[in-house]
Amino acid sequence: TEFPPGKILEFVSDQFTPVAEMKGIRFQKTLDTHNLYKGDQARIQQLFMILLDNALKYSPADTTIHLLCEKEGEAFIVQVSDEGVGIKEEDIPFVFDRFYRGDKARNRSQGGTGLGLSIAKWIVEAHGGDIKVKSSENKGSTFTIRLPKKQTLTKS
Ligand code: ATP
Ligand code: MG
Repeated sequence: TEFPPGKILEFVSDQFTPVAEMKGIRFQKTLDTHNLYKGDQARIQQLFMILLDNALKYSPADTTIHLLCEKEGEAFIVQVSDEGVGIKEEDIPFVFDRFYRGDKARNRSQGGTGLGLSIAKWIVEAHGGDIKVKSSENKGSTFTIRLPKKQTLTKS
């Protein structure tokens, strides 16, 4: 189906707003809520939930989470950027692995299985896209997703 990914991101961030407010975290949104994308809406919603769940879980109070969704040519760029604990440089290559959790996450009382980002990567790749992370410890993390226009296969 076709849907505006920016609207889905807005919907998911609205769902997380009570949790964010309780933690003293704000959302700053720059969202294209009009342009349509062809893909699996339920999976894309799950993808955004995974990223927002992480951004909130790994951010302290009085920080901002920046959300961006914009069309770039025929593709969509979605970015979730937090001012949280960040990821150690040596951990970055593993964060998309199944069951991988950083020390900080492992030592936390709050739950988590380390599956979120592996599912996120699977969803993005099923849409022909890619997901990247930039992070520095105690400064924050930025996850950038590129969702290209779905290729329509033509018979030759
Ligand atoms: P689950 O998502 O299954 O509840 P999880 O959050 O620990 O558990 P992932 O979402 O796969 O698992 O993330 C893997 C690890 O990457 C986390 O344990 C954490 O160490 C690190 N991580 C993920 N997102 C962030 C973030 N926004 N900031 C800092 N660290 C992160
Ligand atoms: Mg997670």
